[in-house]
Amino acid sequence: MIKKIVILGGGTAGWMAANILAKRWAKYSVEIALVESSDIGIIGVGEGSTPQLKSFFDYMEIAEAEWMPACNATYKTGIRFCNWSTKPGFENYFHPFPAQPDDYSAPAFFYNCFVRRKGADVYAHPDKFFLATYLAKHQLGPKPAHHFPFQLGYGYHFDSSLVGLFLKQHAAKLGVAHIDARITEVKLDAQGYISHLLTENQQPLAADLFIDCSGFAGVLIQQALKVPFINFSSNLFNDSAVVMPTSAAMDITPQTTATALNAGWMWNIPLVNRIGNGYVYSSNYLSADMAETELRQKLNLLDKDVPVRHLKMKVGRLQHHWAKNCLAVGLSQGFIEPLEATALHLVQETVLGFAEAIELGDFTDREQANFNRSINQRFEAVRDYIVCHYRVNSRTDTQYWRDNANNNSLSDSLRELLQVWVGGGNLTQEIERQKIGCYYPSASWHCLLAGYGLFPTQDQLLPGNEVAHKYKMENIENFISRCALNFSSHREQLNDLVAKQQVM
Ligand SMILES: Cc1cc2nc3c(=O)[nH]c(=O)nc-3n(C[C@H](O)[C@H](O)[C@H](O)COP(=O)(O)OP(=O)(O)OC[C@H]3O[C@@H](n4cnc5c(N)ncnc54)[C@H](O)[C@@H]3O)c2cc1C
Repeated sequence: MIKKIVILGGGTAGWMAANILAKRWAKYSVEIALVESSDIGIIGVGEGSTPQLKSFFDYMEIAEAEWMPACNATYKTGIRFCNWSTKPGFENYFHPFPAQPDDYSAPAFFYNCFVRRKGADVYAHPDKFFLATYLAKHQLGPKPAHHFPFQLGYGYHFDSSLVGLFLKQHAAKLGVAHIDARITEVKLDAQGYISHLLTENQQPLAADLFIDCSGFAGVLIQQALKVPFINFSSNLFNDSAVVMPTSAAMDITPQTTATALNAGWMWNIPLVNRIGNGYVYSSNYLSADMAETELRQKLNLLDKDVPVRHLKMKVGRLQHHWAKNCLAVGLSQGFIEPLEATALHLVQETVLGFAEAIELGDFTDREQANFNRSINQRFEAVRDYIVCHYRVNSRTDTQYWRDNANNNSLSDSLRELLQVWVGGGNLTQEIERQKIGCYYPSASWHCLLAGYGLFPTQDQLLPGNEVAHKYKMENIENFISRCALNFSSHREQLNDLVAKQQVM
């Protein structure tokens, strides 16, 4: 029934939405126009993804050799967290993306976590149990030799401006019209639906459906339709970021590194041509100048002239993401700070979930309510996983970390998960009971809680009997290192893409 769609905003969210809908609804001859203002520009950060982004490019039938070299992209097998915990032996750990061979090693990890929480002195640091962790440590890329019969999830690092440009060109091929203009007015009809947008030159842009991808401004959904914004600041303190690139490293590690600093954390994202760095922090604890100085110190850039950007972040979500004839996608619908690089994942889920809802029930209240509930659940699940990083930190060096560790503003879901872990219960069963494994699986929760060393202290542990030592670590390590023989170096895999691109 939708004949015409206007998308407001040409950041990554706008162009992803345009591409997905232009492809999905091509058979219905839906007309799509994207309007953006080059004077306003895009946020231009957001350089890491979850494995979900691969399914976006697969869905669009865009080969890695086509887009990755064009966007200086690299592979990502997970995230290394450094200095979030002060527990000896647990100062850093890796959160791996899932791989099929984990089916063999993860049960050993879960078991060891379980008995260690009960006081047995078994190995329970996550780093030795997952293939993706091994690949990152040894600078191996995530694409196996063709005879390796198992799947491996992986994400990407990329230049977000170049991805936007790439997607803009691709959308044009699918027939999406592009208008460069500032929207100055949003006109509503008598029922409160958006009837048309007005550009600064008074050009009207009418449509059946409007997609708000206007970034933090939320021009349609927040400013015009007045959908309330639910702030997450009671348990996610960070509201600011400072960003500073550095030159590329010799080794391109297929991982994001998230290192805790005085009042937040810094990211390190290796691209082919540079490293993306940024410090995400709370302005209640640190001024912009102090954050910049701390980041410069960390990067050895104290008196060097480098491009620096300061950004504010609005952290939370809309009460509902689809209101009247408007769908909000991207920063306009909400943002959870980028610790797990989940924003584009949420963009994809929102657009695909919306398309499904429309195909199932069109503009019915029931489909709309189901859709809004499901996106809200996803936002809250991601929020809880991120909040947990702060709540279980064991740093005591600054007020910021002490306040985070003492913050009891937790959802019931997170509170119950933590109770199960600390009480020696079965975490996997609790995740199943709460039906939240589709957001973060049991392995992710185990990695987080074990990775921070949330166990009895070393002097409280006892050697344990044969039952406690059911799994031999050398067998696990052997298995993973043998699996890894099927992977070439990350650098080689990136060079292969360039070679393939040249013959395309
Ligand atoms: C510090 C930081 C780090 C991040 N890291 C990650 C990460 O690692 N991974 C990840 O997935 N995400 C990350 N994100 C989120 C990511 O940057 C965004 O989700 C992504 O860039 C999409 O943004 P957007 O398209 O919603 O908004 P924007 O990029 O802000 O685009 C908004 C668009 O709306 C247009 N616009 C606004 N108002 C008007 C108007 N009145 N008229 C016409 N046009 C208008 C602008 O011109 C622009 O085209 C991060 C965000 C921040 C702040």
